[in-house]
Formats: sequence, structure tokens, C-alpha cells
Amino acid sequence: TDPFVQVRDLTVRFPVAGSMVRAVQGLSYDVELGRTLAIVGESGSGKSASSLALLGLHDRRRSIITGSVRIGGREFIGMPEEQLRHHRGNTAAMIFQDPRASLHPYLTVGYQIAEAYRLHHRTTRRAARAHAVDMLGRVGIANPARRAGDFPHEFSGGMCQRVMIAMALVNDPKLLIADEPTTALDVTVQAQILGLIAGLRDEFGSAVILITHDLGVVTDVCDDVLVMYAGRSVEHGPVRSVLGSPTHPYTWGLLESLPSLSGPAGGRLHPIPGAPPDPLEALPGCPFHARCEYHARVAGDRCRTVLPDLAVRAGDGAHRSRCHLTAPAAVFAGEIAPRLI
Ligand code: SF4
Ligand code: MG
Repeated sequence: TDPFVQVRDLTVRFPVAGSMVRAVQGLSYDVELGRTLAIVGESGSGKSASSLALLGLHDRRRSIITGSVRIGGREFIGMPEEQLRHHRGNTAAMIFQDPRASLHPYLTVGYQIAEAYRLHHRTTRRAARAHAVDMLGRVGIANPARRAGDFPHEFSGGMCQRVMIAMALVNDPKLLIADEPTTALDVTVQAQILGLIAGLRDEFGSAVILITHDLGVVTDVCDDVLVMYAGRSVEHGPVRSVLGSPTHPYTWGLLESLPSLSGPAGGRLHPIPGAPPDPLEALPGCPFHARCEYHARVAGDRCRTVLPDLAVRAGDGAHRSRCHLTAPAAVFAGEIAPRLI
């Protein structure tokens, strides 16, 4: 049977300063029901843009989206807006970084969840309200019947994110896209929210796409990870393999920048030096070459002129990366590369 989510050769372009920028180029991945794919990368890498494109949430008059996105067997690219509206919430739902910005400040949380339910169900206000209270309980809000009558400002940031998750799941979508859902929260609450998402994934049997700039959050709750750089997938595969034997220099850089791997607790972050390429310039070659420490030493001139394929370079066939390092060189570099698992 086909995976629930199948993305093939997705390209997203939109105009910036008079030119069409390629925010996402040739992205492909699958997500099965009950599993979580992490999409990791710096801001501007295309991870949010690719996920918005899944649900047709771009400015459709200005952007050009090509490729295929099949969710539950239906093609979403080019789907008419009216049908997309039906599937948003029902088939796939999204939660964002700042829960407060997504909640209406003057409406009770119970009312907002109930209305989200009524968008997709013909039912009484009373029945929708009962459903909202039930969802609040499932996302771990104590006294849900009473808290349903509270306004967003009466909840902490973590509790607001639980409310958003309740609202996202109230119509039982089989795909949940979470875009940096814990970035605005403190570390303990982050772990609780990620645990909650994983628990609900198992309970509802849904597929989850978790977008993050932090590889550290990936290990506990994700099955697969896709590392994006400059709009492209540069490394992709099972978490155990990608974070246990990473093969792309950009992934090594991301791992090195984790505080837990860079010396004593509280040690400084080591960001990867340099900046991503200017998206307005269509440069040939590997998009990472201006920042890569390895191309001069081991991969040579091809890095500047030829875009590497996404190909198997380590482990089983499910782990692929986009780099010219040859196998022995990759092993050499891998010995000095950091690993998370
Ligand atoms: Fe570095 Fe070359 Fe690999 Fe790109 S292809 S990541 S420049 S070694
Ligand atoms: Mg983003």
C-alpha cells in the first residue's frame, strides 16, 4: 500500500525583488500513518515553505508550485481552493510556533475549538462544545469543562500550544504538520509538548511532519529525518542512521552546533560559519560549497560545478545524501564527524 503522504519533486517559487526565488527545489519524501518525519534546517532553508505548499497555504496568485503532493491518495497540487478548504483540518492540520498569535484573544478556547469542529460537522453548538471539552482533556488540560470557558490570556504559552493541538486534532485529521511548535516554549514544556504530539500520533494513528531548526528535538519522537539546505533535501533517512552516521557536511555542522556536543553544559553554540547562498542567484554545483570545509580537501572542483545527486552513501538504501565525497573519503570524514546516537 502507498504511504499516506507522498511528496514528489515539489518545487515552490515566489517573487522576491522582481525575480522568482526557488524556495523549494525537487523535494521528495513519504510519511506513513503512525510515523513522524522531522524536517530540519536553518531559517530560509525551505522547510516551512514546503509544508505550507502541501496544504495550498501559499499566496496562490503569486507563487508557482509544481510536482506532486498526494495525501490519502488525493493529489493536492492544483486542487481547487474549495476542496482544499474541506481537506484543511479534516485530512491534514497544521500548528505553528506562536500559539497565541493563532488564537482569537476575545473568544473562549472552548468556543474556538467547537467552531473548528463545526466547520466540518453538521452538529449543534452543544454537541460541538462537548467535543471541544473532550479534546481539551485529551491534550492534558486539567478541569477541561471549566477551562473551556477561559480566554487565551488565562493560559500559559505551553497550555496555549495544547489548545492549538486540540483545535488541530478536533476533526481527526490523519496528517498533523507542526512547524516549530515548541520554539517559543521553555525546555521542560518543549519536552511535554513533543511527548504529547507523539502520544496523540499513536492514539489517533496519524502521520506527523515536525519542522524544526533543532536536531536535538528529533531523536526522541521522530522516525525519519530530512535535512534541508537552500531549498533542497541534502540528507534524508531513518533518524538512527542519519544522526548515528551522518554523511553530509551540513548535517555534521548542525550536529556540531548542538550545545550538548560542544563542550561543558552551558557551552557556547558553534554556528556553521558563513551564510546560505543568495536565493536570487542560480548557482551551479553544490549549494553548500561556499561554507563546506571538505570540498577542497576531498571532493574537489566538482563541488563548484556539479549538483550532487541524492544517493545512498551509508547504511541501508533508506539513507541518502547529496554530496560528492567519495565512499572512502566519506568514511574518513565520518570518523571525525560528530554523531548524536
Ligand atoms: Fe561539501 Fe562538496 Fe559535499 Fe557539497 S558536495 S557538501 S561542497 S563536499
Ligand atoms: Mg519557519
